[in-house]
Amino acid sequence: MVAVDLGGTRMKCGLVAADGAVLHRETRPTPREAGGRAVLDALLETVVELSQKATADGHRVRAIGVVVPGVIDAESGTVGAENLEWVGTPVRAELETAIGDGVPIVLAHDVRAGGYAELRQGALTGTTNSMFLPLGTGIAAAMVIDGSLVSGDGWAGELGHTRFVHGDAAEQCACGQWGCLETVASAAALARRYGARTGRTVDGAREVLELLAAGDPDAAHVWDDALRALIDALVLYTTLVAPTRIAIGGGLVGAGETLLQPLRDGIHARLTFQREPEIVAAVLGEDAGCLGAAVMAWDRVTTDESGDQTV
Ligand SMILES: [Zn+2]
Repeated sequence: MVAVDLGGTRMKCGLVAADGAVLHRETRPTPREAGGRAVLDALLETVVELSQKATADGHRVRAIGVVVPGVIDAESGTVGAENLEWVGTPVRAELETAIGDGVPIVLAHDVRAGGYAELRQGALTGTTNSMFLPLGTGIAAAMVIDGSLVSGDGWAGELGHTRFVHGDAAEQCACGQWGCLETVASAAALARRYGARTGRTVDGAREVLELLAAGDPDAAHVWDDALRALIDALVLYTTLVAPTRIAIGGGLVGAGETLLQPLRDGIHARLTFQREPEIVAAVLGEDAGCLGAAVMAWDRVTTDESGDQTV
């Protein structure tokens, strides 16, 4: 199948076989600066060209999976995605027109697709109650509850837009609310808050983590704010959903145990009666969205019985 992930700075695209093997992968620019129509045209062109490549390589395209950082209306196949400038954009209808009849199209939210991949073949394998929480430019959760990935008609999992910072310390979030988890604990927030505090421009969260390791007190301050809000969020989720495992992903998990151990300690100290989850790093990295779209699409397609190799 053809998989395209629009969740990152560049489109991640691939051809994925029924067994999850990635037969081809590439990245392409996402022309956000040219507006929503240009992004959609780039997606259509990518899907058509990858389908042609699959055919030329002797495969049969059985499904198209597209991962988007936005709200998908499952009924209409329209997508709202602020950072792609899509508002009620008829992505499924446009793909159907471009590809022709008969090929199933699966649209999936980027974080839920990533969570599905982690559930099926990554850090959440074997769990029935768990969460995938990538801490990247933004924060959203893929929630696995009683064995199912919860989509809430496309609206579920927005833990990043829950208020965990109160009083004067609360900053306004891109979503319009104040004090959201994302305003202190995303990778983007760490860099922004360090810059605001010191007047210095840093090269993303990576540099803040380097400063933290070097003993920089301002880095420690913004890091502690992030940890405090994350612990609050994970305790809330643990109390509501009782996960056995939480997999942290996204750019910040590059901090490794510097991030994970304080989270474990903080949660352990806070819980009283609740079931304590394991806190682990996600394992699929940047491929998670594409793989998740592929697995979701393959789930919809009956496995080819004739033995000819299909993508
Ligand atoms: Zn928000």
